[in-house]
Amino acid sequence: MATADETIIGQENLLKFFNKLAVLSSRKPVGGSFIFLGPSGSGKKTLANILIGKLLCQDKPGLRPCGQCPACSQLKAKVNGDVFWLSLNEDKKNISIDEIRGLLHALSLSALGQGYRAAVIDRAETLSNQAANALLKTLEEPNKKTVIILLATNLNDLPKTVISRSQIFALRPIQPNLVHDFLVERGAKRSQAKTLAALSLGWPGLAVKLSDDDVLSEHLAAAEVFFQSISQDQNKRQAALDKLLTKDLEAEEILSIWQTAARDLVLNKLSLVEWQRYGQLLGHFQDKFNFSLAQAVAWYKATVQAKEYLAANVNQKLVLENVIINL
Ligand SMILES: [Zn+2]
Repeated sequence: MATADETIIGQENLLKFFNKLAVLSSRKPVGGSFIFLGPSGSGKKTLANILIGKLLCQDKPGLRPCGQCPACSQLKAKVNGDVFWLSLNEDKKNISIDEIRGLLHALSLSALGQGYRAAVIDRAETLSNQAANALLKTLEEPNKKTVIILLATNLNDLPKTVISRSQIFALRPIQPNLVHDFLVERGAKRSQAKTLAALSLGWPGLAVKLSDDDVLSEHLAAAEVFFQSISQDQNKRQAALDKLLTKDLEAEEILSIWQTAARDLVLNKLSLVEWQRYGQLLGHFQDKFNFSLAQAVAWYKATVQAKEYLAANVNQKLVLENVIINL
């Protein structure tokens, strides 16, 4: 099965805009800074690759880069000397000023194809203040053939100074039935496609990610810890969380899953069960706990606040514990 990176469906407006930009770019230099917003699995990286591809591709027609010319082939193989990716180092909390300086230096040196140069900054919400400031001058006076793309989940987590100098594109989830059809086309069984489409909340990249059994079971395990904790004593909650933290999930992913689980409980109380994401799983626990609508709303709000704590660099384990303990 192909990776989530290759999946982009239903973002035609963005693709059309990129195409216009690419057509324009052959007449006059275009450049600047773009922010792509969407959750993990929404296709931000794929879109960044499409925009860059459209600018570098030597064969302009079509909404997508040709994929075959030398520029496209290099891009696919991730060896294009005019394209730079910067992401948060796994053992760091922030993208540092030195990393940004390095990136800007590389951009200033590279002009291999005498054409466009591009930098993509993944998880841009982790830019340190100094790093963001170091970027500003470049964002303000972009070299005419330089494109900087920042990828982030929430606009609110980015510095206002960066936002005001960028064009913002928010990816939108697509209809779950389109995700379902897309998965079936890719060879999924209908029953599996139905489950994955519901879990994906309209993000095809996430659906593809979840079609890996290990990823799916970790994802469901995180939701299970949330539902289970409601009726468990504190020691058991803590033990379940400790076990969850040994898995391959990031704190932000766990919180997103819990937020959706809490939302499911709100929907459950409102009898909007068809909108629930973990309806099947919730069915196993529902007899074990009683809760009010007000409680469910409070739990949901707690997950929203926890995300803010996480963005403010509060210790990840503490943030997660705080949610689970207060259920
Ligand atoms: Zn091409």
